[in-house]
Amino acid sequence: MTPQSSFDLIVIGAGPGGYVCAFRAAQLGLKVALVEKRATLGGTCLNVGCIPSKALLASSEHYAFAKGHASEHGIKIDGVSLDVAAMLKKKDGIVQKLTGGVAALAKARKVTVFTGEARFISATEISLAGNTGAPSASLTAKNIVIATGSAPVELPFLKFDGTTILSSTEALTLPSVPKTLAVVGGGAIHGGTEIGAVMVTYFRHRCGKCGRRDGRLLRKRRADRDDMALGGEDVAGCMRVGEGVVIKEQVEILECLR
Ligand SMILES: Cc1cc2nc3c(=O)[nH]c(=O)nc-3n(C[C@H](O)[C@H](O)[C@H](O)COP(=O)(O)OP(=O)(O)OC[C@H]3O[C@@H](n4cnc5c(N)ncnc54)[C@H](O)[C@@H]3O)c2cc1C
Repeated sequence: MTPQSSFDLIVIGAGPGGYVCAFRAAQLGLKVALVEKRATLGGTCLNVGCIPSKALLASSEHYAFAKGHASEHGIKIDGVSLDVAAMLKKKDGIVQKLTGGVAALAKARKVTVFTGEARFISATEISLAGNTGAPSASLTAKNIVIATGSAPVELPFLKFDGTTILSSTEALTLPSVPKTLAVVGGGAIHGGTEIGAVMVTYFRHRCGKCGRRDGRLLRKRRADRDDMALGGEDVAGCMRVGEGVVIKEQVEILECLR
């Protein structure tokens, strides 16, 4: 393990909470280390949250305009079709630009960035684990800020498998069009509503959504869509059928196929 480096402040996690804290502390004159286990800075928001979801949302609105509304403005566009790979490339380019921008700001503010998973050794010392999980360096500071954010939580009976049952992270990189889709949970922030909206706009396929609390939100946003079905009950279970999943609500069954 590389010998200790010492700082006034260590910030663990380079999401919007962590990097803003690190930059401000450096501006105020502290010697700051920013530790991030992802390869890029910006946290959930820039890498797998707000920014990529908004990029896909913007693409979906362009598609909907070209396909359905341009002609209302007297603009004729023939042969509108989807290139999902190009859309994902556009989204990835935006993410890359913004995460790179945060790295450039860190450098400009003389914040030292470490890549690795931070683990506490004591109240003033952390170790960094690299790809292998083995501690590669240790850092000390009088003050340590924990800004480690959140991660998708799976339901016990709907475990993420990366192909059929997806977290919001994998939903942002779907390489092809699912035939049908159920979004479980519809909080605006966590993308349920947005991801449902993106998929319906792109693909014009039936999109079901379950989860008791958020039905009103989606209904308000997409009152004009008849291709979004709303469930109003808790999800009670799920069963795999071929390449798809059957989700059982307390009163209804939704079938979802890749
Ligand atoms: C699909 C989606 C869409 C969203 N859209 C919006 C939106 O439109 N508007 C909005 O305001 N919010 C949105 N959010 C929420 C937003 O992303 C979060 O509120 C925000 O990212 C929280 O910032 P944070 O800094 O607290 O945590 P995070 O952004 O989660 O950052 C924490 C960082 O800590 C790192 N980390 C964790 N443990 C360690 C460790 N031990 N060592 C080193 N690093 C570690 C993680 O890798 C991560 O990069 C969305 C989220 C999702 C998933």
